[in-house]
Amino acid sequence: MLHIDEKLCIGCGICEEQCPFGAIDIVDGLAVVGDTCNLCGACVEACDVEALSIDDSGGRKARDDLESWSGIWVFCETVRGELAPVATELLGIGRTLADDRKAQLSAVLLGYQTGESAEKLIGHGADKVYRVDDPALELFTDDIYEKIVSDLILAHKPEVVLAGATAIGRSFIPGVATTVDAGLTADCTRLEIRQEDGILLQTRPAFGGNIMATIICPDTRPQMATVRPKVMKALDFDARRRGEIIDITPAPEQLISRIEVLESISEQQSKVNIQESDILVSGGRGLENEKGFELLIKLAESLGAKVSASRAVVDAGWIPYPHQVGQTGKTVAPKLYIACGISGAIQHVAGMQSSETIVAINRDAEAPIFNVADFGVVGDLYEVIPKLIDKIEEKRGQ
Ligand SMILES: Cc1cc2nc3c(=O)[nH]c(=O)nc-3n(C[C@H](O)[C@H](O)[C@H](O)COP(=O)(O)OP(=O)(O)OC[C@H]3O[C@@H](n4cnc5c(N)ncnc54)[C@H](O)[C@@H]3O)c2cc1C
Repeated sequence: MLHIDEKLCIGCGICEEQCPFGAIDIVDGLAVVGDTCNLCGACVEACDVEALSIDDSGGRKARDDLESWSGIWVFCETVRGELAPVATELLGIGRTLADDRKAQLSAVLLGYQTGESAEKLIGHGADKVYRVDDPALELFTDDIYEKIVSDLILAHKPEVVLAGATAIGRSFIPGVATTVDAGLTADCTRLEIRQEDGILLQTRPAFGGNIMATIICPDTRPQMATVRPKVMKALDFDARRRGEIIDITPAPEQLISRIEVLESISEQQSKVNIQESDILVSGGRGLENEKGFELLIKLAESLGAKVSASRAVVDAGWIPYPHQVGQTGKTVAPKLYIACGISGAIQHVAGMQSSETIVAINRDAEAPIFNVADFGVVGDLYEVIPKLIDKIEEKRGQ
């Protein structure tokens, strides 16, 4: 919070002028801070008499037992007994972090009738699996999941906890962070260990995706982060890997919920699951109008691909939202991504830069999409794509 030293404040009003949020008023010759203060620090720098200071600890003291927290944990969710793909993706980055910290990688598996999931997690990199398999976990409920995971964290004290930024992860992991009194960085796109002190560097887009911010939690444990599906890469399954499976029976009080699930209805699997396609043909504003997608559908059909899009064309109503790639759409990592008439704004690139091969077609040679493309075609997409389709058909016919 912003602290005003009444003995030093001379009521000069410089801070009031400097505050971009109109959060400071001079009342009876003294600076008074209001609710709109966002701790930007502009007033502190401007104050000539050093009457202003920021206490950014949020009232929280640094833990005095930081050294006793160790190991990397990944929360692994299941849906109707099936392991969510994000679980193995997180084990991939978790393995790197654990090796850097010379620590163990543990998976926390919650669900009912989880079958061979624990063995699968070991094959994908886990040293240990804490398995909680109970009928009460068949359907997700925030409070039960929150209690079980929080209690496990407090009992075993991992240094880092990762979870998927999925509907389930987003729903209960913030509650876990609050219960264990830790920070949480959502939607990280990069995680690494700072070599000098072992701190987890948690990088994510900030300010509308215009900058990448690296966030650290030096004073609290565990260091907690969520990552969207398809951002990290899973390690190949290795059946020779060995690990320990620890079965945990939840205590009756952990299974008391304020929520009663009356019915669970599976959403009809969307026909547009762009995250599962190996090839994506993606259209942007360069298509000029909705009809432009007819050409992209032809190209997609010739390649056995699905059609995706930039936000500009989704906002324009040319194609529905499930097709959107990017920071506020889906993160994709296909083998081949063909960007047609897409400029390559940072918010779009954030959702497709992990694609194995990126091809860009754009008539502007300076378009930023070419900075991430492996192959670029400078030209009008209405000339380039029909020729491309002809070539593909020709090859097919041979
Ligand atoms: C908070 C926030 C979140 C956002 N989230 C996303 C997101 O998730 N996904 C996303 O995509 N965007 C997102 N955006 C929007 C993003 O900033 C861009 O505005 C958007 O990606 C631009 O879409 P575009 O590339 O289709 O259009 P434009 O930027 O208008 O680019 C069109 C391109 O087409 C080219 N072109 C034009 N005609 C032709 C032609 N005939 N042949 C070949 N090339 C042609 C042009 O040279 C140009 O490069 C977000 C923005 C904000 C602020």
